[in-house]
Amino acid sequence: MKKHSEAQTDVKSLLGLGDQSTRKSYYAELEANLDELEREKNKYKSLFDHALHGIFQADLDGKILNANKAMASMCGYDTPDTFKNKHRNLKDELFYSKEEFLRFKKMLLQNKQIDSFETTFHTHLSDNQQIVVSISAILKDQPDQLIECFVKDITTLKEAERELLIAATAFDSQEGMMITNHKREILRVNNAFCRITGYTAEEVIGKTPKLLQSGQHSPLFYKRMNDTLSLKKYWQGEIWNRRKSGEIFPEYLTITAVESDEGNISHYVAAFTDVTQIKESEAKIHHLAYYDTLTGLPNRQSLMEKLTSLLKRTSRSQRNGALLFIDLDNFKNVNDTHGHSTGDLLLKHVANRLKETVRETDIVARLGGDEFIIVLEDIGDDDEAINENVRHVINNISELFSKSIILDQFEYHASCSIGVTPFKGGETADDVMKRGDMAMYQAKWSGKNTCRFYDPEILVPQFHMAELELELRNALPKDQFTLYYQPQYNTENLTGAEVLIRWIHPERGIISPAEFIPIAEETGLIVPIGWWILESACNQLKEWSRSDETKHLQLSVNVSARQFSQINFVEETIDILERTEIDPNLLKLELTETVVLTDVDETIAKMNELRLFGIRFSLDDFGTGYSSLSHLKKLPLEQLKIDQSFVRDITTDPDDAEIVQTIIAMSYNLGLSVIAEGVETQKQKEFLELSRCKNFQGYLLGKPMPINEFTANCIPAAKT
Ligand code: C2E
Ligand code: CA
Ligand code: CA
Repeated sequence: MKKHSEAQTDVKSLLGLGDQSTRKSYYAELEANLDELEREKNKYKSLFDHALHGIFQADLDGKILNANKAMASMCGYDTPDTFKNKHRNLKDELFYSKEEFLRFKKMLLQNKQIDSFETTFHTHLSDNQQIVVSISAILKDQPDQLIECFVKDITTLKEAERELLIAATAFDSQEGMMITNHKREILRVNNAFCRITGYTAEEVIGKTPKLLQSGQHSPLFYKRMNDTLSLKKYWQGEIWNRRKSGEIFPEYLTITAVESDEGNISHYVAAFTDVTQIKESEAKIHHLAYYDTLTGLPNRQSLMEKLTSLLKRTSRSQRNGALLFIDLDNFKNVNDTHGHSTGDLLLKHVANRLKETVRETDIVARLGGDEFIIVLEDIGDDDEAINENVRHVINNISELFSKSIILDQFEYHASCSIGVTPFKGGETADDVMKRGDMAMYQAKWSGKNTCRFYDPEILVPQFHMAELELELRNALPKDQFTLYYQPQYNTENLTGAEVLIRWIHPERGIISPAEFIPIAEETGLIVPIGWWILESACNQLKEWSRSDETKHLQLSVNVSARQFSQINFVEETIDILERTEIDPNLLKLELTETVVLTDVDETIAKMNELRLFGIRFSLDDFGTGYSSLSHLKKLPLEQLKIDQSFVRDITTDPDDAEIVQTIIAMSYNLGLSVIAEGVETQKQKEFLELSRCKNFQGYLLGKPMPINEFTANCIPAAKT
């Protein structure tokens, strides 16, 4: 109030209402006041001009009225005027968008004052870079509505903040992180560290990373790590550490040394990933690449590597070993008849059995299919020692194979052919394998279920194998097969013949079935060939049925395991019987023990079906296999055929003589007829007759021969 009346007096004086002296002094005072005001103004102008923060004024439309130097230079201008000229309007020339300005204005109108409004400004800086600013603003209502702004460039601050955020995010990444000081005391760890190691942050802070040591690495390992760190300020590698639980785990670790400005190491930053799973998958991949998934045995790749390194080692020590190349006989049969899962089961059994036959240190591998390899290491310095050791293993194998295997409810008798080759150091794995392969073929060719040492003299069949196979495929369409007939007699008369196939090769002449039947079986070609044989034999019976002299003659036809195991064997056979219209009683099928024992129940079922039609069965090569009496009793056989190997020595070897007599006695007990094959001498025949054998086949009575010879020589009455 008082101030108000004083002012009234001043105004009166000013209008000349006061006296002269009063007026004068008033002017002086006014002048002084103006000076004071000017000084004050200059002072504020200087403050305005030299302020470190940008200051500007604008009206509510956003028109910039005033700006200081700092504001101009913040936005890349030399003077406030150039700034003002360029950024006449806040709306979109300074604020990065009109909407942003409107948001700012709205806030200001509401609150009259804003403490810190963060936004982005356009600038004239290089590349028209935008800056992040923080604005404090006041709305001045008097005399006009004015916006007064104080602007701080916080671009760098924001960037630093973002960097920090990134660092913090990175620190809390999936990788375990640990920061230590130069004394290696742990300062910080992240969540991943805790998750991987099982420790909480509190448990490890202040401790050293020694806490994690697994004891898997030598002191030298840690010394090297430290040396590298001090030299290169960096270490990276795989390391085994220990979790809180005690579990040891592999991690991939990177340690970086952080240097202070003075060049001393101030901190260490360690980042690591748990590579347990990677290791596990690596191991799995390794296992897949090196081990056969079915049997778990090393595969070919692994075998070759092991063998190569063994041959290198052996070359140094000059010790000798041997390789056994093992191939299952008639394996395809099992697959064809019982399906692949049964085949797989058999392979697993065999793999397990083979492992049992050798020492831990020997290698047992599966090459694929039904081929296995055994490598015996360090078994002697001379042939005799090696032979003895190999024989020992082979005996083990035969013993194991002589026991039947129960596969999916049926009993299976597996057999195998084994090729053996000794080796010395300095040879290549390939050479040794090749020899083993050939030896195995030599074993197969000599009739399966046997073992052969590699013999360089018998190379031919192996080399011709592929060629022979190809030609064998064409033999049937090219009509190169023919049947020979070997007469069979009882004590007085010709009873019929055994049909034996011959391959009349255009260049090689007559090829023995002993040579090509194994290939035909291996390749499955035996099936179509077998049907051709059966049909041809039936045609011959049909032919004979037309004449009184021959209509009683029987034919024995060999049936291979592979053919007999065909699912449609019974139907096809009956088909042929019906097509050729022969008397099935005159047809005898010769089965071997391998056929019969592959799947006894199935065999019996098939045999019984065919028996109903009148077909008879003879058990070929009897005495060489494993037939047990209990099996024999169950089989609907008509005849046993004593193998020629017993007949051969019947007059010289009392053991063989006894065996033959036992077989004959047994066959009568079982109500079976018996025939001896391979009868070559009169003496043999007499002995057999004395032993009550009543049927004979052999060179003494006639070799296998073409049908016209047979007709001419064996059925004299039929010909005129
Ligand atoms: P296998 O069934 O045991 O046939 C008897 C073999 O002994 C025949 O040899 C025959 O020529 C021979 N042989 C006959 N008598 C005597 C003798 O007194 N002394 C001697 N040392 N040998 C005699 P082959 O014809 O070479 O046949 C060999 C094997 O080939 C046969 O043995 C049989 O397993 C197979 N085979 C022959 N023909 C066929 C056929 O048509 N189908 C099938 N699946 N296999 C056949
Ligand atoms: Ca036979
Ligand atoms: Ca035979």
